[in-house]
Amino acid sequence: MSQDSDLTHFLKDVHWLMDILQNIDVGLVVLDHNYQVSLWNQFMQNHSGKAPERVLNQSLFEVFPDLAEDWFRRKAEPAFILKSAAFTTWEQRPYLFHFPHYRPITGTARFMYQNTTIIPLIDTKNEVSHICLIVYDVTDTAMNKLAQIEANDRLKSLSRVDHLTQLYNRGHWEHCLDQEFKRFARYQTPCSLIMFDIDHFKAVNDTHGHPAGDEVIRMVSQSLRQQLRDTDIGGRYGGEEFGVILTNTDSSGALEFAERLRQQVEATEVPNGSESIKVTISLGVCELSALITNYHEWLAAADTALYHCKENGRNQSFACT
Ligand code: GH3
Ligand code: MG
Ligand code: MG
Repeated sequence: MSQDSDLTHFLKDVHWLMDILQNIDVGLVVLDHNYQVSLWNQFMQNHSGKAPERVLNQSLFEVFPDLAEDWFRRKAEPAFILKSAAFTTWEQRPYLFHFPHYRPITGTARFMYQNTTIIPLIDTKNEVSHICLIVYDVTDTAMNKLAQIEANDRLKSLSRVDHLTQLYNRGHWEHCLDQEFKRFARYQTPCSLIMFDIDHFKAVNDTHGHPAGDEVIRMVSQSLRQQLRDTDIGGRYGGEEFGVILTNTDSSGALEFAERLRQQVEATEVPNGSESIKVTISLGVCELSALITNYHEWLAAADTALYHCKENGRNQSFACT
């Protein structure tokens, strides 16, 4: 009588437990050592669209051919062999099971991001014949984190870029100049700096107005961008002054670059109402050498070369020696 009652209690407990496992809002999967499925709860059924009849006693990898098998086995084997639990996060791999994700509000996710815990199930003989996967839907957390990373990246790039020209602003460009200077100290690969300035720019503003002056600055920076290679670093140093760092470029290569840019600017007209504006630029070139001990000296040397051009009649380039 009392045994019957114990059994009834036990069965009731098991029944409750099964109800809880079925309805809990995480995925539960039990696998044997052949990776055949022994338990597949409601959460897994709802999100995979696969009923337990379709999945139970089947190989997980046959039912889900897209599942990252090698990776998953590497994660799961220690649970069988070492009896140790493992945890994988969406940051390491966005998901274990590819489940579509439909949400009216946070509808930007294309799939469910998942964290997964793998725990060994130890039997009465102290052996691990099965493991249990607990799959958590962490889509909201992941989307928030990704949006935050994207916003930070955007802020970072905004804080580096000059609004008018979309070139690097002075702060970031000088930082790059310092980096290139330090790289040279280590590797001694040639690197040149060009500082250039629009000739008689004050007259442009005085004659055509400040907005037209802005258009000229935009045209010059556009010309510069067209000449830059991916590895070159262009920046707006001041109002109508620009800097270009040419990596892997010696003085004669930099002078060629300077002349090409000078000719392009000279040939470009900026429309302004019924008239058009033409400007020229002067460019000072300095190749980095062991005589230069910091980036400020490098900058000053290129500026001296630029000053030489201004003194010499403008619309020209000059390299310091
Ligand atoms: P030089 O040939 O010797 O370089 O003569 P310059 O007239 O170009 O030189 P200066 O440095 O005397 O004048 C630069 C002018 O650029 C003065 C300033 O009002 C103007 N300026 C600076 N920033 C901007 C800007 O963002 N937009 C406009 N439109 N003008 C600017
Ligand atoms: Mg000027
Ligand atoms: Mg100037």
